[in-house]
Amino acid sequence: MDFISTRGGGAVSAGAAILKGIAEDGGLFVPSFFPKLSAEDLRNMVTMDYPERAALVLGMFLSDYSEAELLSYARKAYARFDGEPAPVIGVDDTTYVMELFHGPTLAFKDIALTLLPHLMGAAHKKCGSDKKTLILVATSGDTGKAAIEGFKNVEGTEIVVIYPSEGVSALQKLQMQTSDGDNVHVLGIKGNFDDAQSAVKRIFNSKECKERFEKLGYSLSSANSINWGRLVPQIVYYISAYVDMLGCDEIEEGEAINFVVPTGNFGDVLAGYYAKKMGLPVNKLIVASNINNVLTDFFTSGRYDINRPFHKTMSPSMDILISSNLERLLFEILDRDSAKVRALMDSLKEEGEYALDVETLFEKVPEFLAYSSDEAGTEATIDNFFETNDYLLDPHTAVAMNSYNDYLTDTGDQTKTVVVSTASPYKFAHDVYQAVSGNDEADPFKAVKKLHSYTLTDIPKEIKALEYLEPIHTDVVEVKDIDKAIFAYFEKE
Ligand SMILES: *Cc1c(COP(=O)(O)O)cnc(C)c1O
Repeated sequence: MDFISTRGGGAVSAGAAILKGIAEDGGLFVPSFFPKLSAEDLRNMVTMDYPERAALVLGMFLSDYSEAELLSYARKAYARFDGEPAPVIGVDDTTYVMELFHGPTLAFKDIALTLLPHLMGAAHKKCGSDKKTLILVATSGDTGKAAIEGFKNVEGTEIVVIYPSEGVSALQKLQMQTSDGDNVHVLGIKGNFDDAQSAVKRIFNSKECKERFEKLGYSLSSANSINWGRLVPQIVYYISAYVDMLGCDEIEEGEAINFVVPTGNFGDVLAGYYAKKMGLPVNKLIVASNINNVLTDFFTSGRYDINRPFHKTMSPSMDILISSNLERLLFEILDRDSAKVRALMDSLKEEGEYALDVETLFEKVPEFLAYSSDEAGTEATIDNFFETNDYLLDPHTAVAMNSYNDYLTDTGDQTKTVVVSTASPYKFAHDVYQAVSGNDEADPFKAVKKLHSYTLTDIPKEIKALEYLEPIHTDVVEVKDIDKAIFAYFEKE
């Protein structure tokens, strides 16, 4: 299968799309068509394990990889998880939680980022590239550590992670700062995630930067969800959740279900939409935002407007105003008309906004609905959900659960619904402990222990280990000095 750019650029192979990360015209790679899953395919997947399901779905898109190859990568990637990669837990008659946080960094990004290095390594060979790869990553908290865990000590690869120094949780910051691996570089910036992401996109689009890196023997690639290789592994768990529910007779063949997805850069929920386009029976995709609710406004009015204050919240991985992957949805809404996509993206860059005819929006993507949760609502949801169900939600998942509750109040919909849980509550121990106990514990590790005593939930071993690691990556620079700092990592020798 070929991949084309949302901005009109020519077709490339899957391997090339994964290596490049972003198209030369600044657009994002999308599959030239959506392969179809039949009811029979879904039924056959019931008896498969997760890596087999992954290999099957990946193989439908990545036609330049063999199925045996994909299966071996999926086995290696998901062996790093503590148990199943995407278990679905029933909460009540209609509510299910899909836990995606059992990977090495306790966030759903691990599902894709444990696999991406294998896909990229193979793409190098397939494309006959002799350059080393420089992975440049902007992170709002979770991608950074997940990318480091995926790429550390991978031969022929260097990784630079850029994160907002004051915009991530204490434990997220420590996870990144204490990373080992000879090829790992971590850069804090005095700015927010959008500043980090804009810098990365700018460097990708700068001929001068690219040439400078090429002289140093590197070609640039991205591990952000703008990379197709990040998105395709995420399609798998939507399908896997459905298949699991089918296998346990929770749903009947053909029965459509809802997904509620805590959303930032729009990668996760977009993968759910792609699963639907492949034929997965999906009723609604509920986009849940925190008070940085640009997407909520977009899906209700058709207007995307980033001219608004940026809020730091207790769900930092969703503190984003520019949701890059929305461009891929626009491409579908606009019947794959790249000129129209380009016009909207130019407007976003120049005016910080664009508008789509709202009737077209509702008509083309009726499955999308959007809600947002403010900080008080998120905190109350963590507390209530724990009281009622003895189940501890992290703040991102709580944003989703609160949005789902609002949706139920509005619609009374009795469709079975999977709430996508994206992080372990222990990554956000301070806020989660405060939500359930009412107490403020500023020390992150004391908060972890108190959360454990209070809720009698298990502390993930990765969090326990963190307490004894020393921060080694402590650089913090102004936004204007990002390029200089990155080049310094490679030009100093
Ligand atoms: C990244 C992240 C999200 C948002 O996912 P997107 O694909 O960016 O929409 C939600 N929750 C957590 C915990 C995350 O790390």
